[in-house]
Amino acid sequence: MLRTHKLGEADRIITLLTRHHGRVRAVAKGVRRTTSKFGSRLEPFTHVDLQLAEGRNLDTITQAETLTLFHAGLGLDYDRYTAGTCMLETADRLVVEEREPSVQQFLLLVGGLRVLAQGERSPRHVLDSFLLRSLSVAGYAPTFTHCARCGLEGPHRWFNPSLGGSLCTTCRVPGSASPSQDTLVLLGALLAGDWGTVAGAEDRTSKEASGLVAAYLAWHLDRGLRSLEYVDR
Ligand SMILES: [Zn+2]
Repeated sequence: MLRTHKLGEADRIITLLTRHHGRVRAVAKGVRRTTSKFGSRLEPFTHVDLQLAEGRNLDTITQAETLTLFHAGLGLDYDRYTAGTCMLETADRLVVEEREPSVQQFLLLVGGLRVLAQGERSPRHVLDSFLLRSLSVAGYAPTFTHCARCGLEGPHRWFNPSLGGSLCTTCRVPGSASPSQDTLVLLGALLAGDWGTVAGAEDRTSKEASGLVAAYLAWHLDRGLRSLEYVDR
């Protein structure tokens, strides 16, 4: 469940990311009435098993069974909640075509929300790892080792989101950032899911990495992410 908006008196249009059919929009009839048979099952942060009836324009949800309610693990913690909101918004923005299967994005989102809700890892790290992987799946894989322009093996000193990541001294352009080596190592570990390395990162390294992830994301989405403004970075 990515997001919902009101339709008429008591209905909602629900935007979903599904395992097999990609992005789907469907109508939940009567869901805003207190007597609705769906209860709170059709809220964001829920993983549900749905049955749909084909409609003229939009399908209608006829049945919903909760599989996982991530909200329970996120609702009470501001950092986790805002990180989760960013994940939903990112998936919503990166999976654009309706009914186009995107199993990898689906699995990344469900996996990311699960880890976030478990509460054992830093919300910042879980979010940044999700963002980097999600961008990679969408075809915008960054490089943190080789030079993004000439392929020269690094590590390199320069980084530029608009050119795909690390840059060697020859390829660097004005305005490139020069992150610390630790930050580049952390970014690589976040992308690879190397949680052993991630867990050992210092706070300022994590902050610098987050800034670069945000810049990278902003470059690849037309508009920045609204919910990212609320994440404490
Ligand atoms: Zn180069």
